[in-house]
Amino acid sequence: MKKWNLVVDVERCNNCNNCFLVVKDEHGGNDFPGYAAPQPAKGARWFRVERQERGVAPMIDASHYPVACNHCDDAPCMNAETAGVITKRADGIVLIDPVRAKGRKDIVGMCPYGHIHWNDELQLPQNWIFEAHLLDQGWKEPRVSQVCPTGAIEAVKVEDAAMAERAAREGLRTLRPELGAKPRIYYRNFDRVDKIFIGGSLAEIRDGVEECAEGVQVELWLNGERLATTTTDTFGDYKFDGLEPDSGEYEVRLAAERFAEGLPAKLRPAKSEYLGLGRLG
Ligand code: SF4
Ligand code: SF4
Repeated sequence: MKKWNLVVDVERCNNCNNCFLVVKDEHGGNDFPGYAAPQPAKGARWFRVERQERGVAPMIDASHYPVACNHCDDAPCMNAETAGVITKRADGIVLIDPVRAKGRKDIVGMCPYGHIHWNDELQLPQNWIFEAHLLDQGWKEPRVSQVCPTGAIEAVKVEDAAMAERAAREGLRTLRPELGAKPRIYYRNFDRVDKIFIGGSLAEIRDGVEECAEGVQVELWLNGERLATTTTDTFGDYKFDGLEPDSGEYEVRLAAERFAEGLPAKLRPAKSEYLGLGRLG
């Protein structure tokens, strides 16, 4: 049986919020019996865009990625207390029954991802329903992927084995896998969110003028072993990315027994670090 998944590419998301708005457009004031009651006019963010910043100026980056109900296969929201109220369809989509769930505010706290939203006016817990009502009418994809201008959201309907193979092959990851919930929203390039970098800049004096030091080899060492080597770019910048936070003592040093002001530098980073401008000696 083929099931629905989303694949989100963090590098492609530009925070335009079309996905957020289209869910508002689809569900604001619109009742889809058997699927979802109308979304409240204000406050509800069933499909929202998160932001992550790393580093400090001048070496800083910001990433965005949409989040919503993950339509988990081992969903914590599906338990003895919600039997018959929250159901998973054969195509993987998790629905909260808009009639049986009335008054069940307790359900909101059952999602560890925070993706069950309380509709105060209707006294209903609600989630993003993967546009199941449209897919059942023959739509080939939900509106969130259809309106994404950068192709950051891809809706995929495949067998679980094929999805698992693709996730392994492309390095796709899900949010908070330690929960064991088996989410069906996958992320590409998620290193930009939960990994850190160490970077810096180098300058040198040429003809009495301070210039960017391009093409200088910089090494990153971890716990006494060389982990990576990179070369400064045209601006004299170097950057080691994709590092685990709190993973040990790193040392940044120059190759070929060269030195710069502030280098070698030892640090135990919990977040992305910019080592500043080092002047070659
Ligand atoms: S529509 Fe696409 S690019 Fe825009 S915020 Fe959503 S995921 Fe990002
Ligand atoms: S994300 Fe939350 S609401 Fe959605 S299926 Fe998983 S546990 Fe349930």
